[in-house]
Amino acid sequence: MTFLDKLTSGIPTLSFEFSPPKTPADWATLYTTLGTMPKLAPDFVSVTYGAGGSTRERTIDLVSRVQRELDIETVPHLTCVGHSKEELADILGLLKKSGIRTIMALRGDAPKGQNEFVAHPDGFLYASDLIKLIRDEYQFQIGCGFYPEKHPEASTLESDIEALKRKQDNGAGFATSQLFFDNDIFYRFRDKAVAAGVTIPLVVGMLPVTSQPQLAPNGFIRRCGAEIPGKLIDSLGQGDAKAVMDRGIDYAIHQSMDLLEHEVAGLHFYTMNRSAASSRVTSALRSHGYFLK
Ligand code: FAD
Repeated sequence: MTFLDKLTSGIPTLSFEFSPPKTPADWATLYTTLGTMPKLAPDFVSVTYGAGGSTRERTIDLVSRVQRELDIETVPHLTCVGHSKEELADILGLLKKSGIRTIMALRGDAPKGQNEFVAHPDGFLYASDLIKLIRDEYQFQIGCGFYPEKHPEASTLESDIEALKRKQDNGAGFATSQLFFDNDIFYRFRDKAVAAGVTIPLVVGMLPVTSQPQLAPNGFIRRCGAEIPGKLIDSLGQGDAKAVMDRGIDYAIHQSMDLLEHEVAGLHFYTMNRSAASSRVTSALRSHGYFLK
């Protein structure tokens, strides 16, 4: 049974996301993390694609290696940034040869210093166009992104849901969310998306917050546009770093259990290439009876 079969039969999936590192030290950290994956038995892992194709070779190398050495289904991300259709076709061809079955198809962000996304003259403006190319010319399963708190460039949540529906109509078989910390925001989004005709499984992106600095105004989490609920800040508290980490993990466990009780399609952990926090959350979920099949 592939993970997409599982998703479509209503069995929640467990997955982890990694990024191709830049330095030898960071590769060493990542390989230690990847070594923990067989024990966690995810349904798939995904590998991000750097801005403007900057990680093109590293993404493809890492994807092939994980798939081959760990025998875990691996989903590479691919973005439209800076690529012509021909270049995208070349990359898709390479991924096909590496035995990849599923692609996470995204538009990507405008490069730093550029206010708005500009498509390559012979490329794509929206993820839905890349998805159509993949559906029409390659036999990959396709995933796409969605934003429970609205994509920052979308004028309204409704127009962003229409964009998600277009990705579904063009061939996406599942969608994974931007991270969020307030489940009610996701439940409201899901109701609206379903009312607008979205039927594909919606997997949620999870990030266990393990320190207060992660919530800094210019930090990764704020840049993702996620609202930080007061209850998360209160739960983390201050003081001893280990105690803060334990409370952050506890928050993520409760957030995950609530999502699973509300029949979310799957949990996808943004690992930042370290698995300590997400593996503790996963073990706790298994001890509560989740992810046993
Ligand atoms: P789209 O779906 O194309 O949407 C982009 C914007 O255009 C939205 O505001 C949407 O509402 C609007 N829009 C879409 N279609 C239309 C239309 N026809 N008319 C008018 N407006 C429209 N980035 C990376 O660089 N590398 C990664 O590996 C990566 N992985 C990600 C994984 C996940 C799960 C998620 C949620 C995001 C990821 N991103 C990644 C970030 C993503 O590339 C950015 O958020 C990007 O700005 C939008 O990508 P998208 O695929 O959602 O774009």
